[in-house]
Amino acid sequence: MKSREDGGELLSRVFVADGHFDLPLMVLARRRRGERRVVERVFLESLRRGGVDLLICSLFVPDEYLPEMALRQALDQVAALREEELESPGLFRICRTWSDVASAGDSGAVAVVLSFEGAEPIGTDLALLRVFHDLGVRGLGLAWSRRNAAADGCHFRPLREGRRGGLSPFGVELLAEAARLGYFIDVSHLNDEGFWDVLDLFEGPVLASHSNCRSLVPVARNLTDDQIRALAARQGLVGMNACSAFVSSERPDLESFADHIDHIRDLVGMGPVCLGLDLCDAIKDGPPLSDLQAFDVVRTHGALKDLDRVLATRGYEEDQRAALVGANLHRFLKGALP
Ligand SMILES: [Zn+2]
Repeated sequence: MKSREDGGELLSRVFVADGHFDLPLMVLARRRRGERRVVERVFLESLRRGGVDLLICSLFVPDEYLPEMALRQALDQVAALREEELESPGLFRICRTWSDVASAGDSGAVAVVLSFEGAEPIGTDLALLRVFHDLGVRGLGLAWSRRNAAADGCHFRPLREGRRGGLSPFGVELLAEAARLGYFIDVSHLNDEGFWDVLDLFEGPVLASHSNCRSLVPVARNLTDDQIRALAARQGLVGMNACSAFVSSERPDLESFADHIDHIRDLVGMGPVCLGLDLCDAIKDGPPLSDLQAFDVVRTHGALKDLDRVLATRGYEEDQRAALVGANLHRFLKGALP
């Protein structure tokens, strides 16, 4: 358990959470090559150095598995993480409820909350959403940056395409079922039409787990000021993404990353800001997931202390830095999890 009264470095004293990490994908890829205890061997040290208490871990299906193998790929990712949880007892815990998160913290384990990054594993079978809920999945991002049965994703750069849609009729049904089951909704990767559909049609908790500010970097993966205001107005969150392509085209570094935090603070205050680092450098030992040329400006969770230093130098008070690194996500999940 972290000592929260030792007066040391901020990250060692406060709740630290990353709203978007593709851990299941990376763990499964390595386990298929015969590796075991991947979280413990590959990720533990940097998680500890960053003082990380909680990760929202995405179930993401690479293009090569679509459409037929999406369900299998998602199940294999959940299975791989469950195996790891049992192989490394006490290291992390897949949390289904808020009390699971609290008891993980008490025992010094990293709390893991599972969330879809695209509804492809559901296909067009509404009943599977309940099955995944039974498996412990609590978040639902309807689409990645591509079209599926539920919604249109936004693209990383302008593409030649036909008319874009928002949510499909199936996507609207899926949203209603997600509300009944108690999922929270993730709007990162949705196109703008889908973003506003979700805000109109879903009354439960909503976050953009890993999206920056479009007024600073004009790519569709980032949010407009209106979208940020709308999320803030309903106690939603915006997770700051460390992927260089969404941070800055001229100077992708920690200072530019901090510019996005400044922008949201100036726009609506610190209420909606959290981390959604989207650390992808560690995925690059596999086939590329997209043609995006990018790197992580926060290199690992262990480098969060460098970000904290940048923010302290900019005059952020300790409570503002604590809000960013975890307190806001703590508040959100306390309300969103059963
Ligand atoms: Zn993503």
